[in-house]
Amino acid sequence: MTPSCTDGVENLAGNCVFCEIIEGRRKAEILHEDSEVLAFRDILPQAPTHILIIPKAHFPSAAAADPALWGKVMTVAVKLAAELGIEAEGFRLVINNGPKAGQTIPHLHVHLLAGRSFRWPPG
Ligand code: 5GP
Ligand code: ZN
Repeated sequence: MTPSCTDGVENLAGNCVFCEIIEGRRKAEILHEDSEVLAFRDILPQAPTHILIIPKAHFPSAAAADPALWGKVMTVAVKLAAELGIEAEGFRLVINNGPKAGQTIPHLHVHLLAGRSFRWPPG
């Protein structure tokens, strides 16, 4: 069976924007799709390359996520970095988890950022 956004933790009001992308109800530039993971370009890029990698199952936070998904999501992130030719120059993987970390979309996602220099600490 193909997992869908309803297979994770209940999607609160049924109006998660990332679930809408998964279901094809919201447009996105998709770079990778398999039965469990989707990757697409961020609508408001913070770097020349800014991609979001998400599990198709709806998990509102990192803490809530099915541990079995971590490897799959990260494997896609690293695969995309290789395909996009940004491995050598460097890239950043970010998970904003919760309000103080700046999470705005309650559907677990990994940011893949590249194409410029990043500061540390991130601020
Ligand atoms: P967060 O702040 O939760 O870590 O990241 C959410 C990200 O989702 C932001 O970088 C934001 O620009 C992106 N985003 C929000 N709505 C949409 C959308 O409808 N489509 C796409 N492609 N990205 C979105
Ligand atoms: Zn969702």
